[in-house]
Amino acid sequence: MICVNCNLCGRDEWRVRYPATMNGSDLDVGVFRCTSPGYGHHAQIVECQYCGFVYANPRWSDEALMGAYTAVEDHTYLTERAGRELTFRKHLQAMEKHTGPGNGRSLLDIGAYIGVFVETAVAAGWDAWGVEPSAWAAAEAQKRGLNVIRGTQNAPELDGRQFNVVTMWDVIEHVDDPAGEIGKAYQLLQPGGWLILHTMDVDSLAARLMGSRWPWLMDMHLYYFSQKTMAQMLAQTGFEVVWSGAQGRYLRLGYLASRVQAWNRVLGRLAYGLVNGLRLKEVAIPINFGDLFTVYGRKPIRSSQDVLAK
Ligand SMILES: [Zn+2]
Repeated sequence: MICVNCNLCGRDEWRVRYPATMNGSDLDVGVFRCTSPGYGHHAQIVECQYCGFVYANPRWSDEALMGAYTAVEDHTYLTERAGRELTFRKHLQAMEKHTGPGNGRSLLDIGAYIGVFVETAVAAGWDAWGVEPSAWAAAEAQKRGLNVIRGTQNAPELDGRQFNVVTMWDVIEHVDDPAGEIGKAYQLLQPGGWLILHTMDVDSLAARLMGSRWPWLMDMHLYYFSQKTMAQMLAQTGFEVVWSGAQGRYLRLGYLASRVQAWNRVLGRLAYGLVNGLRLKEVAIPINFGDLFTVYGRKPIRSSQDVLAK
């Protein structure tokens, strides 16, 4: 375990927001799966007393985290493909209201996992690429003929390339250095390009009402943004924040019931029996408690460096 300073303002002055509910010594690769049922298990979560950023501290080392992410395999994610496809189609439709349609323009999805968003974007006319650290997930994407590179934003294949759009769907809360990742995304964007991030909102009403029982408090989540701290980090990097607001996702009822079971066995069994009995397993429903949000940042057409150079 390592202690980390605030990733937003760099200070080391915090108060505990949620005490740890797990033993810090064991690092189980299983919890790093997208569909990990690790609800309610997390490291100590603190809040910066200066800027209000919320993060896990202390936490595992960067090497341990990257090791876990490169080793992850998640076969249940494959079965939940239908729910993901629907969510990503909705995300893409919402995105294109800001960015305009693809028309062959380039897009890079960071943490592309098995490539569901890349595939959705390609189908809609984008020249879509992805990077993904998990060897297993990147191979799953490549099997479908998608341009998903195994690695991170540092992958040599991306050297010197610039994209019209960079997306990070439910990724920024997992990385060890979000400010660094947002800075790299800035470099990977053309002037006027868009960065789109989707993550949980720790200041949402649902998060505040549920307190320590908020299900997004999980050991695999290192950073808990609010719309305010996210806007601060984007502005600090040079992005103009164009829009920020709540945006949920879609889940199949069968999957939802299995997640309820991970959270509460009795309730879960009841939900599963009901969903099965009514043959509703494949029905996808929108989930929006207002505690997930999307933010649209834009790299200025003329960057601050250009202005300084003039
Ligand atoms: Zn801070």
